[in-house]
Amino acid sequence: NFKRPATTASATYSTGGGGGCTCTSKKLEGKVALITGGASGLGKATAGEFLRHGARVVIADLDAETGVKAAKELGSAVEFVRCDVTVEGDIAEAVEMTVERYGKLDVMYNNAGIVGPMTPASISELDMMEFERVMRINVFGVVSGIKHAAKFMIPARSGCILCTSSVAGVTGGLAPHSYTISKFKIPRIVKSVASELCEHGVRINCISPSAVATPLTLRYLQKVFPKVTEEKLRETVNGMGELKGAECEEADVAKAALCLVSDDCKYVTGHNLVVDGGMTAFKIAGF
Ligand code: NAD
Repeated sequence: NFKRPATTASATYSTGGGGGCTCTSKKLEGKVALITGGASGLGKATAGEFLRHGARVVIADLDAETGVKAAKELGSAVEFVRCDVTVEGDIAEAVEMTVERYGKLDVMYNNAGIVGPMTPASISELDMMEFERVMRINVFGVVSGIKHAAKFMIPARSGCILCTSSVAGVTGGLAPHSYTISKFKIPRIVKSVASELCEHGVRINCISPSAVATPLTLRYLQKVFPKVTEEKLRETVNGMGELKGAECEEADVAKAALCLVSDDCKYVTGHNLVVDGGMTAFKIAGF
């Protein structure tokens, strides 16, 4: 009889009757988080979730117009900084600006990403320039974010880094090759870096969502199915999970991200958390 708790500004919620637990804690009270790609979709939803749990949030994004609007919408504890994750200097500046402004960086969320071109589908026709562009944002941008966050977190001997992968990087075959290859790399990068950061008390994990009805997914699908609406997309993605009675909204991914960066997961590092409603845990017919 679990009821999805209503989201409240104080992050106070209850599981309702039946003697369930009541959560009144703010999981990121006093923490400072920087989120790349925070102007839209999953990054924006996560900024909202971190905020409700007491964090001050800086959203770093290429799209200044959407970023400024998002920061305004989210409230006074959120700031926007323009940042292109393919430019190392931009990431360095975003991190430095956050530390100068708030005195520290507790959470670095390397989330910005693109899908890239939908076609051609065949590896034999892969456009290597496009491949490089996708890798530059989805992989270089993530590594660069890790590097510059680590510069502050290692001497501070604390901090938590999160990166966004995808179920596309778990199964293969769900998205164009460039995107899939880029997302496959993220859990390996995380594992590699975790082995060094452990000794400094810094955690690093990644999250692999299945399809969520964000602007990224809509843009990507509309290239092939121009008539797809956001409503239809939500219906479709919610039919992709195997978990009965569960529907995936941006907030569900944001809550999983919160869990990974909060002290609820203080013994978890080098992990890839798949958030897919059982999509990759399907049952083969007859078994
Ligand atoms: P989105 O398009 O809604 O948001 C992505 C944001 O990243 C945008 O605000 C965009 O301006 C920003 N961005 C793009 N290039 C950038 C750059 N070079 N520098 C800085 N910012 C840049 O997309 P989303 O669906 O919220 O995706 C967020 C992350 O989640 C991506 O890494 C994506 O691959 C991943 N993901 C999404 C889904 C999904 O179904 N939506 C599923 C799995 C993984």
